[in-house]
Order: sequence, then C-alpha cells, then structure tokens
Amino acid sequence: MRRPLIAGNWKMHTTYEQALELARAIQARCGMAEYAEVVLIPPFPWIVPLSRQLNGSSISLGAQTCSAFDEGAYTGEVSAKMVAPFCRYVIVGHSERRRLFGETDAVVAAKLRAVLRNGLQPILCVGETLEERESGATRDIVERQIAAACSDLESGQVARLVIAYEPVWAIGTGRPATSADAELVASWIRAWFRERFGSGISEGLRILYGGSVTAANAADFLAVGDIDGALVGGASLDAREFCSIVEAAV
Ligand code: PGA
Repeated sequence: MRRPLIAGNWKMHTTYEQALELARAIQARCGMAEYAEVVLIPPFPWIVPLSRQLNGSSISLGAQTCSAFDEGAYTGEVSAKMVAPFCRYVIVGHSERRRLFGETDAVVAAKLRAVLRNGLQPILCVGETLEERESGATRDIVERQIAAACSDLESGQVARLVIAYEPVWAIGTGRPATSADAELVASWIRAWFRERFGSGISEGLRILYGGSVTAANAADFLAVGDIDGALVGGASLDAREFCSIVEAAV
C-alpha cells in the first residue's frame, strides 16, 4: 500500500550541462516507472530548467533545504514558497545541514513547517552519529529528532511527511548500515508515530533508508517491511546506478 520512493540527493554536485544530461538519462530509463516514485533533488539553480525538461514524465523534483521564512529581507535564503511551483518535496534536517551549517532541532522544526505551509512534502532526515550509536543512544537520538520536528503536527500534516533514516556514519562513507539495523530503527520510527498519531497514520508513513545506498545493496533495504524507499547521495549521480536502484523497488 505504501508506494516506494527513490530519491536522488545530488548535493552540491553537477554543472548545468551535467544536470540536464543526468536527468535526461534517468528519464529515458525510468521516467515511466509506476512501481516506484522517482524524485530528483538537484541544487537550487537547476530546479526550474529541470522541471521544464521533466515536464510530462512521472519524475518529480525536490529541494535540498529551504528557508524557515516565506519571503523577506533574508539574504541568500530560498523559500519553500519559491520552489513550490516546481517541486513536490523538500529535504529538511539532513545531517550535513545539521552538522556543517548549525541547524538545530528548532531550526529543522521551523523549516518543516515552512515546507508544509507551502503545500510541499518534507523529507525529514534523522540519524545518529557513530559515537551516539556506540554509546547505545540511537533510539533516543532518533526519537528526539522526530519529536522535536513532529510532536505538535496535526494528523493531516503527518500524512504528508516522509522520514529518512540516515545514520550519519553511513553517509558518503561506503559503509552502509546493515538491513537489520535499518529495519530495527525503522520499526522504532513507525512505533513512535503509531503511539502519537494512531496506526492509520503510521501505516501510511513512508520511511526511507539513506547512507551509502548503491545498486548492489538497494534490494536488501527495500526488502525490509518497514523501509519504503531510499534517499541516495553519491550513487544518484550516475544514471545507470540510480536507475538500477529504482528498479530494485519493483
Ligand atoms: P550517500 O548520501 O548515499 O552518498 O551516502 C546519502 C545522503 O546524504 O542522503
């Protein structure tokens, strides 16, 4: 009942030409995939040209972050309101934003509200560092991040949410979590939503795994009952690799 979602987070990669070519190649091979929802999440400047190029395909676009504000004197910020005509999703709380750009739980919560307010769907990233994992704090950390962002949402808002479980130590390291680890954390996440919002909401919630997903390991994660897709970084920059991940969702 939950349609798998495979999202490619391009981060701060690609030139304009590379972005158009990557999207074209992905569209050619998996632009009509019905078994999974395919989302490309390019750098901001490529969103508008890619939305034109992808017009008519089933691939949708996302933004990698957004401002907590909708408009105003905020130099350098890009609002959810601005990308709303072109995107369906916005990533909030990616660990790189938290770690390198000082985004606190409160900032993440404010951005998540901006995304919802503008009719978009947030992909909320949560996950523990290696140190936190080794000290046995994974569940506490993940639940704290979710609670800070979601506690006071209404059911209708939660229904539009996507959660990405991304252990920080697995991102960009070539060292993914095991599917058993990801399964356990995904089950905790679903249980958290069941307790707060009821099983109707929690059963509809899509939970992605992210962190060194490749064509070689995607099927393992996608076979897990509580995992409904993948947030892919490095491997999303290669059209063949990324489409193989999409096809693993069949
Ligand atoms: P990775 O990145 O696939 O390169 O590990 C995942 C992410 O940061 O979303």
